[in-house]
Amino acid sequence: MNFAMSDNLARDLEKFNDLLRGHLEPFLNQWYKKEAIPREFFQRLGQDGWLGFTGKNGQFVEQSYLKQTILMEKLATISPGVAVAVMVQISLGMVPLFLFGSEPQKETYLPPAARGETLICLGNTERKAGSDVANIGMEAKKVDGGWMLNGTKAYVTNGAISDLALITAISDPSASRNHRLSMFLVDLTSTGVSRKQLKKRVWIPSDLTRLHFDHVFVPDENLVGKPGKGLQQVLATFTQSRIPISGLTLGTAVGAFEAGLERACKREIFGQRIADFQAKSFEIADFSSRIEAARLLALKAGWTKDQGKDFRMEASMAKYLSVEIARQVGVWAADLFGAASVMQDHPVHKFPMDAWASSLGEGTQDVQKLIIFREIMKKRDII
Ligand SMILES: Cc1cc2nc3c(=O)[nH]c(=O)nc-3n(C[C@H](O)[C@H](O)[C@H](O)COP(=O)(O)OP(=O)(O)OC[C@H]3O[C@@H](n4cnc5c(N)ncnc54)[C@H](O)[C@@H]3O)c2cc1C
Repeated sequence: MNFAMSDNLARDLEKFNDLLRGHLEPFLNQWYKKEAIPREFFQRLGQDGWLGFTGKNGQFVEQSYLKQTILMEKLATISPGVAVAVMVQISLGMVPLFLFGSEPQKETYLPPAARGETLICLGNTERKAGSDVANIGMEAKKVDGGWMLNGTKAYVTNGAISDLALITAISDPSASRNHRLSMFLVDLTSTGVSRKQLKKRVWIPSDLTRLHFDHVFVPDENLVGKPGKGLQQVLATFTQSRIPISGLTLGTAVGAFEAGLERACKREIFGQRIADFQAKSFEIADFSSRIEAARLLALKAGWTKDQGKDFRMEASMAKYLSVEIARQVGVWAADLFGAASVMQDHPVHKFPMDAWASSLGEGTQDVQKLIIFREIMKKRDII
């Protein structure tokens, strides 16, 4: 067992920090005000190879999940909302194409996506189908040369800025619940697609968008993976995505902790720094320890995936624990700013709100507990 960061990874992290200092931090206030992330930022990340995939001998390979977890933590420490937009591009947009796409689909869509030139989102959730992923109503009817899509995806991150969307729909209504969905890659400029950007209070400046499909034609070659395997494909995508979202959520906790600590060390009340009250110093020690525990678990999940081992339990545990700590430390940090914390533009605001959002993406806390329990029982051969 080795807990030391490799020289390569340390160098990469330094380069990534430089990029964030030069191309994110100076513009962040502006992006928060506009509630939008310019496409150029994705291109900048793509140019330097930060979008999750690397070209090798004409082939695309996934970058290390350990590394992605570390980078996500770093990015989310500054802005969980920017981090989620990047994570969606990599983990919900590119990963399903990488895992299930045909060779022509990979050749066509992955290189521009890895350069940040083409943006891809994923829509599964509908009003009546969130945790119950299979319960969607969106239809895909077979027609000559393709499929006709009808329905609405309720909450799609990056839906406003993406060029393409991976969309799940019922392609065979006569099949059983687990075998009736397929996944389609939809050009969002197609006739019949409409988008409505939703007003939200979390993960600013990313967008959350409702995508409506009214008789949208999707050619046969845009079916992703196997017909009838859409549910398994989207679940596998969420399972993988739980690793980077754990890094993101951890970053949310770290951002909050740093803001809270700074405040506790600066603000004097009753003649002493807040941090010098023993009650507060114990909280600092406690949160610091628990953040480190969540970090070790997130890194273990990334490492387990990189080793080609079954990472389902680790990914769910990492997501569960990082959300628990991010929620608590977010409220703690906001509390330390007193009344100032509730003002509209106060920077500490985003951490508790974004921790709340993290609890929803890739499965709620209850869903993670269901998965962890199932994996525990499976490992013991009980079910
Ligand atoms: C900011 C944001 C971004 C999002 N981005 C996307 C996106 O890009 N693409 C996309 O497809 N979706 C996206 N979503 C949707 C997200 O995946 C869903 O909100 C999530 O899956 C929960 O579904 P729901 O909102 O319908 O809640 P519900 O499933 O209705 O859950 C409500 C409550 O019931 C609990 N619950 C559910 N099932 C069980 C159970 N079996 N046992 C015990 N308790 C249970 C839940 O834990 C929760 O507390 C996004 C949501 C948000 C808020």
